[in-house]
Amino acid sequence: MDGSLTYRYDTTGRPVALLPARCKLGRHFLGHLQLRAVVHDGEAHISCLACSNDGVDDTWRLTATAPAPERAELSDELYHQLALRRAQAASSWDKTS
Ligand SMILES: [Zn+2]
Repeated sequence: MDGSLTYRYDTTGRPVALLPARCKLGRHFLGHLQLRAVVHDGEAHISCLACSNDGVDDTWRLTATAPAPERAELSDELYHQLALRRAQAASSWDKTS
């Protein structure tokens, strides 16, 4: 798993899921039309359609602690650290291969 799905609450107290605004490899920004989000069995899977078209497995796997809210927003900051850490891990892996 890459982390936990995060929520915020709007002014009426309803939960809004916050989705990564960037795909896991950091190659694309994810607009609402560029991602596919599925919540299933306590896991949220968010995949980038552009990467899927390239045949790359680029799915965020996030633990969902609550049922999927009706609404979702994209957050660039929230998952930035996770993406960064992954990019660093990938580059150090490249050096040893
Ligand atoms: Zn992508």
